[in-house]
Amino acid sequence: MLRVAPVSIKRERTIVDAVRRCLVCDWEETRSETEETDVLGPPCSRCRAPTERVRVIASRVEHVPRNPHASALGRLGASRGGIARAAALSPKRRRDIARAAALARWRR
Ligand SMILES: [Zn+2]
Repeated sequence: MLRVAPVSIKRERTIVDAVRRCLVCDWEETRSETEETDVLGPPCSRCRAPTERVRVIASRVEHVPRNPHASALGRLGASRGGIARAAALSPKRRRDIARAAALARWRR
């Protein structure tokens, strides 16, 4: 069976309100961006030239929502695992498990 090493996924990111100055027209604007955004780079909203982060006004930690597409892919893998497990079990063991599941479902 294929085993994939667990990947640690960051569920939080730091968002900063940064003052940026255009390197060409000197226009200043405040924008929210991730902390990792390049200090030099994002385009000026007036002339599209690169801007420079000149200071950070505020910073906050934000929850990163799960990607529903990634979750769906994960479930696809999980259901494949279930099929592989069922194929590996003996018919008797498989029947016992199915019976226990059915009893559990109807025990209400
Ligand atoms: Zn500019």
